[in-house]
Formats: sequence, C-alpha cells, structure tokens
Amino acid sequence: MLRIAALVASLTLLAVPAAAQTRSLAVTFDDLPYQAADAALCDPKAAMALTNDFLRMLKPLKSNATAFVNEGKVCEAQRPTLLPRIEAAWLDAGVDLGNHTFSHLNIHTTTAEAWLADVDRGEIVTRPLLKARGKTLRYFRHPFLFLGETSEKKAAMAEGLQARGYTVAPVTLDNNDWMFAAVYRQAEAAGDEALKARVGEAYVAHMAAVLDFFEPYSAELTAGREPAQVLLLHASSLNRDWYPKIHALYLARGYRFVTLDEALKDPIYSHAETTVKKAGVSWLHRWTASDGRKVRWEPEPPDWIVTAYKAAS
Ligand SMILES: [Zn+2]
Repeated sequence: MLRIAALVASLTLLAVPAAAQTRSLAVTFDDLPYQAADAALCDPKAAMALTNDFLRMLKPLKSNATAFVNEGKVCEAQRPTLLPRIEAAWLDAGVDLGNHTFSHLNIHTTTAEAWLADVDRGEIVTRPLLKARGKTLRYFRHPFLFLGETSEKKAAMAEGLQARGYTVAPVTLDNNDWMFAAVYRQAEAAGDEALKARVGEAYVAHMAAVLDFFEPYSAELTAGREPAQVLLLHASSLNRDWYPKIHALYLARGYRFVTLDEALKDPIYSHAETTVKKAGVSWLHRWTASDGRKVRWEPEPPDWIVTAYKAAS
C-alpha cells in the first residue's frame, strides 16, 4: 500500500513537469528602439523612458527574447550617444540584439544592392557594441518579412546576408500585433483608458485565436509534432502594457521560452523554402507552399481594429 502510494506520488511528480511545458518558442521584438513618434526617439530623456519602462516589464519574465534594431529610427544627431545607451539597456535586461536594416527598407521599392547597403548601415552601432561584450551580431530579420518579390532579388539578398555572416531569423507565429499597437497608440494619445483596455483585451483574444490556428497547422509540416515556434512582436506601448498577458497565455498552453539559437535548432528551420512572394508571411506558409500543399491563413484582427487602424493611418 505504502509502495503503491509512493509510486503514485513519484509518477505524479514526474508527470507534472513533463506534461506542463512540452512546447517551445522564441520571442522576438522588432522595430527597436520603439514604435513611437519620431520626436520621442530624438529626445534622449523620452527615448530612455520608453526603453526603461518596456524593460521593467520584460526583464522579470525571463523570456530569453531577441530584439531587432532599426538604427536609423534614432535621429542622426543623437544616434552616436543615445543608441548605445538604449542597446546597452536591452542587453543588460538579458535580450540579444539583431539587425532589422537601418531604415526598415521595403525591398519592393528598391534594388538588392541598395537594400544590402541598408543592412550594412544598420549594424554600425550594434556590431561593435555586441563585440565589446564578447558577443557577435548574427541574427537578421527582414523588414515586413519581405524576402524579395523576384527570384533574382531573393537570391541576391540571401547571398548578401550569408556573405555578411547573418543567420536569418524566420517567423512562424505572425499575428499583426502592430495593427493593435497603432490603435492603442491613438487611444493613449487621446487619454482614452476604456479604449486602451478594449484594444488590449481584443489583442490577447486574437493571440489565442492565432495559436489555435498555428499549432495544428505547423504540425502538418512535421508529421504531427509541433515544431519550436518563433513569435514576432514589436517594441510598442501595447506590448509594454499587455505582453505579460501574452506571456502568461503561452505558459498556460505549455510553452517554454527558449533562445532564438535553441529554437532554430529544430529541423523545421532547414525545411526547403522555395517560394517567391510579394507578401510578408509566416514561414509556416512558405514551407507549406514549398511542399506543394495548399496554404490556409491565420485569423485576421477583428473588423473594428482593422477599421480603426485604417482610419489612424
Ligand atoms: Zn519591422
């Protein structure tokens, strides 16, 4: 009897952690220093306040995040002094940094050569700062998730990134958080607390719906096993206020927060990817299309968010 009770107790102990966090994901934040009015990123006091408020939220969550910088978002006059302070704050909070181009350049409007020059310009502050801490700038995130709308451009961009030693950071869990963030920013500027709460709650519900879609969809690529996911979010006031709820949602669904390095070891990230598309979409769609299978799309944000976003922009 005692032995059975002990056996049941030890099985319970074994079963709980194993059943609890069996999924994994790497969280990434794009568009550093922040999605905010340009003026805020030219004022050192305002820019540091945005950064520190965001990191005060993020650091205790130990999310192993990687963040992608647009160096050109900080005004030229302030850049040499302000950007290293901002980046140091992110690194001190345990977040790794990657390149997201200097000016968030849209490849559809330019050449591969000009685009690669913007990649080079995007690492002037970040690369030496990482080096001084014994780290290497390795990760690159494509603006708009655009990989090139012709096969020539796509090949030239991929070769250029590889020659520079970059590892591309794909996105699997794409979700339009930026659309909610734009509406949230407007509510914030208007001091409309009720609207902020409504947008935040709709955002959390949308992120759950996106997971309901992507979890089984991703498993279709991997014989029923869900791969390690990469989540794309943005450095915004929406996430400063609501990311803890998103983080809790993932924990409740059994996710472990791993580094990008660890997530990219999943074999899914070496899956053949042969699509040439103008749209910026999840790699889950790119791999599905590369396999010659039919793409199905994740849920869109609610209509009232789409309408409010269009009105704001
Ligand atoms: Zn971006």
